[in-house]
Amino acid sequence: MPKKKGPEAKHQSGWVILKDRDKQIEDFCRDYLTFMSRVKTEREAVAYIMGLSARGLIRIENRGKALALCRKGTRPLADGVRIVVAHLDSPRLDLKANPLYEDTELAMLKTHYYGGIKKYQWLARPLALHGVVVREDGSSVTITIGEEADEPCFTIEDLLPHLAGKVHAEKRVSEAFQGEKLNIIFGSRPDLEVKEEKVKAAVLKLLKSKYGMVEQDFVSADIEIVPSGAAREVGLDRSLIGAYGQDDRVCAWTAYAAVRDAKNPPYTTIALLVDKEEIGSEGNTGAKSIFLEEVLWQLAQSFKQQIIPSRVLYRSKAISGDVNGALDPDYPEVHEKTNAARMGYGVCVTKFTGSRGKAGSSEAHAEYMGWLRGVLNRRGIPWQTGELGKVDEGGGGTVAKFLAEYGMDVVDMGPALLSMHAPFELSSKVDVYSTYLAYRAFVEEP
Ligand code: MN
Ligand code: MN
Repeated sequence: MPKKKGPEAKHQSGWVILKDRDKQIEDFCRDYLTFMSRVKTEREAVAYIMGLSARGLIRIENRGKALALCRKGTRPLADGVRIVVAHLDSPRLDLKANPLYEDTELAMLKTHYYGGIKKYQWLARPLALHGVVVREDGSSVTITIGEEADEPCFTIEDLLPHLAGKVHAEKRVSEAFQGEKLNIIFGSRPDLEVKEEKVKAAVLKLLKSKYGMVEQDFVSADIEIVPSGAAREVGLDRSLIGAYGQDDRVCAWTAYAAVRDAKNPPYTTIALLVDKEEIGSEGNTGAKSIFLEEVLWQLAQSFKQQIIPSRVLYRSKAISGDVNGALDPDYPEVHEKTNAARMGYGVCVTKFTGSRGKAGSSEAHAEYMGWLRGVLNRRGIPWQTGELGKVDEGGGGTVAKFLAEYGMDVVDMGPALLSMHAPFELSSKVDVYSTYLAYRAFVEEP
């Protein structure tokens, strides 16, 4: 790896620091693009990674929505572990329990959005349906419709500008676009054999014949409406990656790859890929659950070591792998330029998150920041610091604080994105690769 001059070296563009590593960057990002094209939900992420070969990895799954990838360290578990946690869920639209109805001779599906979205970004664009339906008898069917060119897709219609004056243009954005109007267009051809709700009847017939589904099966389903289409290279120079769900599957992929490739890690290393971060890390697949303790119990059993999980966690070090917002060329006024992360400047280390006076942040200690900075500098890995917006401009949180509760040191580290939480988020290839290098350095560091 290219050496920086020393810890005092100024932050430089990742493209400068890694100028001899184009091939490695491209190779890594090719696999990442494939992952992002195939995977649109937490379930699909778990299934995809479980389907890859995993020499020397221990994989512990939680309800098909969360996953721990572990590599045994040379030291005993009792000395602590190294954890990189990332989340597999992304903002989206979920179907309601009774989604299907007919209006204006269109079959429609009602949704309830999940996580922080700008509602207008979901209108008038191709959408895909991904999910699983569990029937009353316990059998299930996995559904993906709307990704391939020969498949139909779905959409939410938007009001024509000619008539949008009072309803949209003259209102605040938060009032103009309402969650209850995010209804999916699901069909329009009537079933000529029935008398009422002919279009709804026709789509129900199709659901029955293609997926063995009856209307009540929607009650026991996890169906997510996501942007349709593959991840793409962006820019004439192909230097950027555009994809849905990079928050936070970019950190999930790089964390997985770091544990996969880690050479003789001194501490047992865990990529902990969790669900539900976008709605507060709740539930038995989220970061607030006891999944991590269960993972330690299973590792101890497999390694034949005696541990007390809480004491192992107290001695551990963690990275909260999550994205930050990059300095926006069109809206620089929301950032404070001295502390905003920049696209292409490597992995972003975020000492604290939160809002209104750091509320909700666990904030990393100076000692831990010093240690981590040394690790990154010694290995010549492009890195920068970041802060999500100006003071009092807004803010956000991550899973860091839930790990910190165990007593371990934890800091946020991941790439900065443009268009974060949009249906098409942008990352820089060199930042993605730097994130992988940084996570790998963290798990390999003595
Ligand atoms: Mn995130
Ligand atoms: Mn997010």
